[in-house]
Amino acid sequence: MTASSIYVHIPFCEQICFYCDFNKFFIKNQPVDEYIEALGQEMKWAVPHTIPLKTIYIGGGTPTALTTKQLKQVIEDVKACAADPSAVTEFTVEVNPGEVDREKLDMMKACGVNRLSIGVQTFHEKLLKRIGRAHSSQEAKDTVEQAKSAGFDNISIDLMFGLPEQTMEDWQHSITEALGLGIQHISAYSLKIEEKTMFHNWYRQGKIHPLPEDTEAAMYEELEAKVTEAGFNPYEISNFAVDGRESEHNKTYWRNEEYFGFGAGAHGYIDGIRYANLGPLPHYIKAIDSGSFPLRETHQVTAKEKMEEEMFMGLRMKEGVSSKRFTGKFQQSYYDIFSEVIYELTEKELLHDSGTSLHLTEKGRLLGNEVFEKFLLVYE
Ligand code: SF4
Repeated sequence: MTASSIYVHIPFCEQICFYCDFNKFFIKNQPVDEYIEALGQEMKWAVPHTIPLKTIYIGGGTPTALTTKQLKQVIEDVKACAADPSAVTEFTVEVNPGEVDREKLDMMKACGVNRLSIGVQTFHEKLLKRIGRAHSSQEAKDTVEQAKSAGFDNISIDLMFGLPEQTMEDWQHSITEALGLGIQHISAYSLKIEEKTMFHNWYRQGKIHPLPEDTEAAMYEELEAKVTEAGFNPYEISNFAVDGRESEHNKTYWRNEEYFGFGAGAHGYIDGIRYANLGPLPHYIKAIDSGSFPLRETHQVTAKEKMEEEMFMGLRMKEGVSSKRFTGKFQQSYYDIFSEVIYELTEKELLHDSGTSLHLTEKGRLLGNEVFEKFLLVYE
């Protein structure tokens, strides 16, 4: 079965945030047009015949760092992969506050983009500066309003918690502001201090201090309680949506299904092979110019790895791992493979078997990583 989802990576940003370890470059003086041309070429090679495309996600970096014309080109190129563009049910573009005007929004709408994911992170002015964001809290709210008035009715925002010096009051304020926007989806992640970021340097120098784990856990619980009360479904550990607005594209990942990934540093999963593209722009463009796929590495996923992934990705979702789907994919039940782990985690009340699926309990959601690790250890 061919993949029906495409991820496209736009690795340019107007400003580099202090915590970010994505493949991204400060846009000034970058070969943006050459990149877009190379990206279009990569898509044509990988998808020589159109496919029954269902979801598209253009992320980054920041797609909205591109001009309207450049972004339109990328959108047209990815749509050209679809056998029937009108059958694409979800088409998301990531947006940074302050980087869209009515013209860019109208272009996206007219081209079939029907979901925006806006990187807000926090509504606290001082914290926005502390983490290196380029926009103000007001700009974030204005961007949401602009998107709504341009006709978008499927808007997600990203929030971060566990930020240095963030208090519970700051976090509650951000949640309240988010819920006041009339949006349909919230993604919320705790800060991870990643290598090769400004935050990592500062952390090593003792200039920033991560929040204690129990404070982070309390922040997560606060979020879950508030957004659930407001009518959002916690359909995945870090994602909350009103009815009918769950991210279909991201479910491709959590259901461990295949997808194309295009662009510098993008990852994909096709025909049982996970691959990663070259990250640096000159390498990516050079590979395409010389007629070859810009691959950095490929990995044939083994049957064991597939089963592990099926479990720890699927358990992130509230619906959990479907017994029927697992058996359909692997011709064995999850009990045939993971019985010891399942019994142990059920005993600890971290996992629950509904009869048709396995999913995390409330306690399990708070200790997700502990649960996921167990499934990885089975084959060590
Ligand atoms: S968080 Fe987003 S906007 Fe900030 S540097 Fe990373 S990709 Fe760019």
